[in-house]
Amino acid sequence: MEINALYDWLKPKSKPLLIAGPCSVESEEQMMRTADSLARTGLVSAFRGGVWKPRTKPGSFEGIGSPALKWLKAAGTKHQIPVITEVANARHVEEALEAGIDMLWIGARTTVNPFYVQDIADALKGTDIPVLVKNPIHPEVKLWLGALERLNNAGIQKLGAIHRGFYAYQSQPFRNEPKWEVFFELRRLAPDLPVICDPSHIAGRSELIGEVCQSALDLGMDGFMIESHIEPHKALSDPLQQLRPYDLDLVYRALEHRDEAI
Ligand code: PEP
Ligand code: MN
Repeated sequence: MEINALYDWLKPKSKPLLIAGPCSVESEEQMMRTADSLARTGLVSAFRGGVWKPRTKPGSFEGIGSPALKWLKAAGTKHQIPVITEVANARHVEEALEAGIDMLWIGARTTVNPFYVQDIADALKGTDIPVLVKNPIHPEVKLWLGALERLNNAGIQKLGAIHRGFYAYQSQPFRNEPKWEVFFELRRLAPDLPVICDPSHIAGRSELIGEVCQSALDLGMDGFMIESHIEPHKALSDPLQQLRPYDLDLVYRALEHRDEAI
């Protein structure tokens, strides 16, 4: 794979790289207040926000959809910080590009399906938008890499992987098992591929995020994507694992050996 170095295309505000923002973009006010606080930390290189939410059960909040794209983009424009959202099909790609979203990620439930990934890759032909690919729900490194290769074959070179842990029946203490050995296999097979840790979906609980971040850093991962919400207890999705921007700042600054990691 031909991959451009992460720090060439995403100018980090801090090292390791930090992408942060709410699980879901819920309202213009929630997104802007969260972004305002995150920007104040001076640490965040991109704002995340889910617009189309892949929920396990029907009837849960499934995201605002397309209208939320402009709230996410407005937060980025105000603070001159790129924004990233999840896409799961070609229509999402078209709408996200149209709204000026700067980067995209593919979620764990989409990476498992080569048809969907190929549709996304086809919709991205002719662009050079950065794409981060989450691991599939189960620990299959070849499927994960296959998704990245499909994007790369479509001409996308600004690529990265996101390690968000793996589903395990009755996983404890984490929501999703980190299985760090899977990261090592990925690194061995694709040494130039940037790998970012998503401690929020691994931990599932905000109080465990610091220790997951420290493990990821100690293992040599390149950065983090962390869920942050101005009022986590009111979040419409993943309320237990989102950190207030203030707490995220504390967790990040408490990490040991930050400078040696890059
Ligand atoms: C998310 O990032 O909000 C999300 C739905 O993640 P995952 O695909 O890792 O479950
Ligand atoms: Mn989430």
